[in-house]
Amino acid sequence: MRNGRHRTALVAGGAGFLGSHLCDALLAEGAEVICLDSFVTGRRQNLRHLARDPRFTLIEADITEPLPAALAARRPEAVFNLACAASPPHYQGDPEHTLLTCVLGTRNLLRLAESTGARFVQASTSEVYGDPEIHPQVESYWGHVNPTGPRACYDEGKRAAETLCFDYLRAGRADVRVARIFNTYGPRMRADDGRVVSNVVTQALAGADITLYGDGSQTRSFCYVSDLIDGLRRLGSLATPVPSAVNLGNPVELNVAQLVERVLALTGSRSAVVRRPLPADDPRRRRPDITLARRLLGWSPCVPLETGLRACIAWFEEEMRPGACRPSQAKDAAAEAPAVADLHRQPAEDASQRSRPRRMNQAEDARLVARPGR
Ligand code: UDP
Repeated sequence: MRNGRHRTALVAGGAGFLGSHLCDALLAEGAEVICLDSFVTGRRQNLRHLARDPRFTLIEADITEPLPAALAARRPEAVFNLACAASPPHYQGDPEHTLLTCVLGTRNLLRLAESTGARFVQASTSEVYGDPEIHPQVESYWGHVNPTGPRACYDEGKRAAETLCFDYLRAGRADVRVARIFNTYGPRMRADDGRVVSNVVTQALAGADITLYGDGSQTRSFCYVSDLIDGLRRLGSLATPVPSAVNLGNPVELNVAQLVERVLALTGSRSAVVRRPLPADDPRRRRPDITLARRLLGWSPCVPLETGLRACIAWFEEEMRPGACRPSQAKDAAAEAPAVADLHRQPAEDASQRSRPRRMNQAEDARLVARPGR
């Protein structure tokens, strides 16, 4: 490691929205990056621009399975765990797999960090606070989570993952840092992930009805992706271990109805707003207290909501352009389905085969190259 920079970093979930931006940031710093992704929600198109980068390796694997031996051989100095479906419709789509990804997957990656001496950065979530009774949410707050509700697979999974992380830290088994990530938005979000920013922007651009859940008085605080990645990198680069989770998010709070108004104004859309039932256990208020991040990392978000929304709108406009490759299009879904289905279809006794790094089929994507054996 030089000047807190990592020479080789593993990014689990590196094909996802945040993961792919993290891969970019690490490569820009001069690191070699190994990206691990199951493509359950990650997308190859997020990494296409890295296809010819000799410092980038893509390995297709599911972290709930034994990890490819090639990973330990590369001896990463940092392991970033961003591997988990993160939008409510996606993580609720296969709740068992979500829970196992959080718990088994984190354990597999922690063991890798233990055996290689790598620093471990866990992407946790504001969901560990559930529907919070403390506002804004400070790291010392233990949360208010329904352990049996539809969000529990993610909320409780991420809480259990934090437990594992801090047990490894206390036992001196790994140098662990835990980021609690609040709502984040920006380019490379999936149009079909069901989140409020992606839904509202794509609906506004298409002139479709805007779906407002509940009365829109529930609040969130939205952080632009570049700010979030900066915070994550600072946390990973810190010289000393951090004995507490660290909130990363934008403390500017607004309610969902206000977000809708901003998007309508910025897009000039004439879409109607239609009410939909509030989903079960939808948190009423959410805003991070980022005092700890400011003090430890010298970090605070700097991209104003309007600037970030403009960039996000421009990106979705491009995505929705006729002929552009859209995630919701059947063509794209078909391109991604075989890899995901392959991983889940294997018989249980074939688990070692399932997680073996698979050279990308060049017919699937001629421009991506996996170099799992280096
Ligand atoms: N929401 C909404 N319309 C949508 C999608 C979401 O009103 O089309 C609401 C949702 O009920 C929640 C907030 O927007 O109160 C943020 O939802 P999101 O799924 O983006 O993230 P969450 O913070 O709930 O995980």
